[in-house]
Amino acid sequence: MAEVLTTDLFINNKPAPASDGGLFDLLSPYTGALVAKVPESTVEDVNAAVTAAQSAFTRWSSLSPAERGKPMKKLAEIILSQKEELARLDAISVGRPISQYIDCDYAAAQFNFFAEASYPQGRSSLNTPGFVNMSLKQPFGVVAIIIPWNAPLVFFSKKVAPAIAAGNCVVVKSSEKAPLTSWKVSQWIESCGFPPGVINVLSGHGPLSGAALAEHMQIRALSFTGSTRTGRAIQIASAKSNLKKIVFELGGKGPALIFEDADIERAARETENSIDWNSGQTCMANSRIYVQEVIKDRFLEAFRRCAQSRQSGNPLVDDTNLGPLADKQQYEVVQRYVAQGRREASSTVDLGEASKGHESSSESQALLVRPVIFTSVPETSAIVKDEIFGPVVVINSFRTEEEAIQKANDTEFGLYAAIYTKDVERALRVGAKLESGCVGVNCASPQTSWDLPFGGWKQSGTGRESFMDSMEHFLETKSLFIRVPGLTGS
Ligand code: NAD
Repeated sequence: MAEVLTTDLFINNKPAPASDGGLFDLLSPYTGALVAKVPESTVEDVNAAVTAAQSAFTRWSSLSPAERGKPMKKLAEIILSQKEELARLDAISVGRPISQYIDCDYAAAQFNFFAEASYPQGRSSLNTPGFVNMSLKQPFGVVAIIIPWNAPLVFFSKKVAPAIAAGNCVVVKSSEKAPLTSWKVSQWIESCGFPPGVINVLSGHGPLSGAALAEHMQIRALSFTGSTRTGRAIQIASAKSNLKKIVFELGGKGPALIFEDADIERAARETENSIDWNSGQTCMANSRIYVQEVIKDRFLEAFRRCAQSRQSGNPLVDDTNLGPLADKQQYEVVQRYVAQGRREASSTVDLGEASKGHESSSESQALLVRPVIFTSVPETSAIVKDEIFGPVVVINSFRTEEEAIQKANDTEFGLYAAIYTKDVERALRVGAKLESGCVGVNCASPQTSWDLPFGGWKQSGTGRESFMDSMEHFLETKSLFIRVPGLTGS
């Protein structure tokens, strides 16, 4: 029988159980077996973590950026040396295939980049006679970080690294579905040389510890990645308490527009990867595909071939590229949408047995779903409108450019849109009209670039994250007006 882990909270550089000893069970989405007993943080634990972070702040923020960078670089090094273990932990807890695990490289790059990032500059001016005026960037103090389960180490690192590089101390709450990688990283924090209280890590359910962070009066800034529904709850909690500065990275229902002059094979391959990678559990997945009518059949055939070749099964096996859904709840949500799609779509492309799983007794327990392709679905249907978060795609058609843009924008989300065409003018014209934080031209999500802002329009989020933009979020701005008698303006 596989080992059952018991994890800890991490407060003030010490592992600790929940204050009331509460634990919850984490089950494998592939075998159904108990994987870990995880502490359910209480409000007392949240308060203890915030107090630890507050106590660490004066010392941490008075270090130079280079001194703060030293333990960050060590953490990056350890993360890279522990790739296999971290990949295993996400595979056993949320079913992420080890073959798709890029999270350690990403996380190490975040800690290394921010360990050396220059501190954002303020401005200065001589525009007021008799004054030198300047603005300063200063850390908030304690900031909260709440992350989802679909790529936990990615979100841990992309938020923690800029927050602490800016001089803040953090309280991170991992997802109840994916607490293991955050817990594992917390075990290395002290040995990297971080002073006690700089990084505190809690586990637990959102409505308990997450909500306590969102309404905490000593937390002035928060960074959240998760669903739009939870983002709204956090916004309300913050509004009712102390109006935190919040960056929201929320849900999506990304369109891909495939024009008649597109490279059909490339468009099919990349959009299929976009929706089926991580079993469709990706915020920026291109889950609505609109194909110009004259090429629809050819595109659909190419897309079907790619989906059919997906190997579903045990996430710990090298050739699996379609793991189980993260948990029973997510599995049931996807099944409900699939059932609805079967009623509402004109046709469902049946992938039959071709997308086969591994022969294993565990498979009877596994929360596996084959890719599902619905075509000619009414635009008003929930499977067109809602984020499903599974390997379920809608492929509809359009006749004109205007119709394509109208359909792409007919959504409350706006995270990642893709356009496939060889016509550069059309790409620029359509790209400018899409209501979306990111637009891929002849590429689909997850293609992004580390040095450009990432984030959503509409209900996909507010604020931007990237290697360049993230530190700004974790800094307050102060303007100083300094009287200098006798000084004249420029
Ligand atoms: P979720 O909203 O259910 O949970 C996210 C986090 O919020 C978890 O840690 C959870 O415990 C916590 N939480 C839940 N209720 C809370 C509350 N009332 N107060 C405070 N915290 C609370 O999201 P999820 O299911 O973990 O992740 C999937 C969602 O995340 C999808 O909608 C996906 O699109 C989105 N996502 C967005 C991005 C992006 O960059 N825009 C990236 C990844 C995932």
